[in-house]
Amino acid sequence: MEPTSRLREFIRDFTLLVSEPGADEAMLVAEGGRLLADLVRQDDWLPEPYTRPDPEYYRQYLLHCDPLERFSVVSFVWGPGQATPVHDHTVWGLIGMLRGAEICESFGPGAVGTLVSQGERRLHPGDIDAVSPTLGDIHRVRNAYDDRVSISIHVYGADIGAVRRHVYKDDGEVKPFVSGYSNDAVPNLWGAAAG
Ligand code: FE
Repeated sequence: MEPTSRLREFIRDFTLLVSEPGADEAMLVAEGGRLLADLVRQDDWLPEPYTRPDPEYYRQYLLHCDPLERFSVVSFVWGPGQATPVHDHTVWGLIGMLRGAEICESFGPGAVGTLVSQGERRLHPGDIDAVSPTLGDIHRVRNAYDDRVSISIHVYGADIGAVRRHVYKDDGEVKPFVSGYSNDAVPNLWGAAAG
């Protein structure tokens, strides 16, 4: 199979999945997780512009957004040592590790107005993780490496760049944020040059 057709077929299959009558969060996390595991099993399909790190901040490149905003697909590119703040998503999300490794630290409610760490998980290429308000939605993610780029592919149950969500600061402040995306153009999945 040509490299970029993996992403095209993943998007087609995910579109069929979200169109099924019984497509609720549990079904999408389970079945969608299997599709994502297939996609990240091989690291030969992500076009180079969506693999580029930024020297300062992690990058969040939109690869595809469903026209009905039922899901979006993003590549997260971590420069060496880069990390997110503690944040939530407010919708279901799937994380598939493509390259390198990342460490996800989950948080749950502690004493009134505080969060407590529920432990860390290290994701290796091919691993899948999930978040949602029902599964546990608050985490902090960082590149497991200080000397190389790591990349994970995420799928969310909305146009995640436009979702109003929250960052949880060390002093207890909860700050609203909308992430946007790092790119203005998405991959051409259909052009001959895309393969
Ligand atoms: Fe996250």
